[in-house]
Amino acid sequence: VRVIRSALIGALSLAVSIASFGCGTATQISRIIVAGDSRQLRERPEGAALGSPTRPPILFVALDGVDRDLLYDLLRKGELPHFAELLGGRSATGAFAHAHFDDTLLATLPSSTMAAWPTVLTGKTPAEHGMTGNEYFIREKLRFAAPVPVTFKDSAPTLGIFTSDEYANRLLEVPTVYQRMRERDPDISIWVAMHQIYTGADALLVADRTAFARAFEETLKDAMGSLAGEEKRSRAVYETLDSEVIGVVLDASDHGEVVPDVLTVYLCGTDLYGHIATEGPDEARRSYLKEVVDPQLGKLVDALREHGELERRWVVVTADHGHTQVVEDERHALSTTQKDDPPQVLVQAGFRVRPFQLDVPRDADFQAVLAYQGAMAFVYVADRSTCMEVGKPCNWERAPRYREDVLAAAEAFRSASDEGLGTPGMKGTLDLVLVREPRPFAEDDLPFQVYVGPEEIVPVGPYLAAHPHPDYVAVDERLGDLAVGKHGERAGDVLLIAHNGDRATPDERYYFAAPYQSWHGSPSRKDSEVPFIVANAREPAASIAARVRMVLGATPRQQKVTDMLLSLRFGEDWAEPARIDP
Ligand SMILES: [Zn+2]
Repeated sequence: VRVIRSALIGALSLAVSIASFGCGTATQISRIIVAGDSRQLRERPEGAALGSPTRPPILFVALDGVDRDLLYDLLRKGELPHFAELLGGRSATGAFAHAHFDDTLLATLPSSTMAAWPTVLTGKTPAEHGMTGNEYFIREKLRFAAPVPVTFKDSAPTLGIFTSDEYANRLLEVPTVYQRMRERDPDISIWVAMHQIYTGADALLVADRTAFARAFEETLKDAMGSLAGEEKRSRAVYETLDSEVIGVVLDASDHGEVVPDVLTVYLCGTDLYGHIATEGPDEARRSYLKEVVDPQLGKLVDALREHGELERRWVVVTADHGHTQVVEDERHALSTTQKDDPPQVLVQAGFRVRPFQLDVPRDADFQAVLAYQGAMAFVYVADRSTCMEVGKPCNWERAPRYREDVLAAAEAFRSASDEGLGTPGMKGTLDLVLVREPRPFAEDDLPFQVYVGPEEIVPVGPYLAAHPHPDYVAVDERLGDLAVGKHGERAGDVLLIAHNGDRATPDERYYFAAPYQSWHGSPSRKDSEVPFIVANAREPAASIAARVRMVLGATPRQQKVTDMLLSLRFGEDWAEPARIDP
């Protein structure tokens, strides 16, 4: 019996609602979770099933900023013993008899948090689901979206992800995997712990918001690139956050009536600490996974086992992106505040640049917008014929002109990087400047091409064939996922890729952000190869491997994780079209 007959949540309150069924009227009582900051997202009528236990349950472990090699190495060496238990155990010889470790899954581009998780949890590409990065411009709405701001310091939108603002959920243009599951299985119970995307779940479990705010704010740099203070570089704030996330899950499952059919647990401390740790991202994340994440997962293993909830549960583990060490100084950080930073390239080319803040007045006068993604940056330009005079707002609903606006901006960045005239700090910083002919925002967008010079624009595939980048992987295909489709214009009219993932040492790498110890976002293997582990204590690894390979197929990219979750839950006929309006 999946119902845990322990006491109801201590802080559980009862709300009464009236619903009509057929010819009669029944009084329905729904329970509202009010423990901590957790929120019940939908009501389950009294008397309705508390879950849907006939189909296999799933635990989805979402890790932030953990690349494949790092996690697999630690697991295979036996350095994450509790994590290994979650995966059905590791034998004395180091083998995982009940887990498949996939070696093919690639992050979406840019390899960053807010492009990745919506892709993982909708099964759609960024050009389809509309969330193209940590921050981006929505030209038809004249709105800068910044679930994780990079060009300015403002924690409000990130904190708003977990409040009733549902800041990230509301940016999605397509249904989530949770909505798709519920459509097929209305009684399914789904809890999400601290993850950004949760539309369609029953409950959002929120760790103490002050712990989250502290961890997040202490990672943010101010405009001058300084942290609150060097003493703040301890990993304690991240440890507190991740242990609170596990804590709120244990509280809810201890005192609740059921362990949900689908439980998503998101741990982001590894990424946040990786960005600032002075010992470098690899050493920092290794010790963090061993000393913080593993013991916390141990508590989760114990709780699930106690409830008899581990045996038949599928466990799926993945991450959003990897990490690449950089040098923490103004020379390598392509920021917004220095006189030869990227905004100045646009200013010197005659563009009026949008200020770096979340909101500006509706009639604000700007002709170009920059959005930073670590190793990449998006540049949006207006049709400047609509706003020649200073003070006149541009008509952003119109697509820019290709030659006069798009290529003008591309040429400014190409010459800044090739020659460094006017902005000497930009010299040698850019690997690729990408452009495409603009389309009206409502139409599907064209693929990016490489801007080599005013008379030379080359498709990405042939360009990379002629200029091999051995550290990059599936660039053309993943740029297509990002930029070709209904919302593809949200990846910019010009896309800049800094020398970063193509370079062997930190001193040769540049990144669009304030100075940090580490960043990501590149098409490199290091940033893009993510772990993907599927485990079930009742299944042999070989049969799990066959299932995974069938779902991932020839294009093992992040959007396939949704397909995997649906197939584990619904079996062979999982691939039914979703018919939900977002
Ligand atoms: Zn990060």
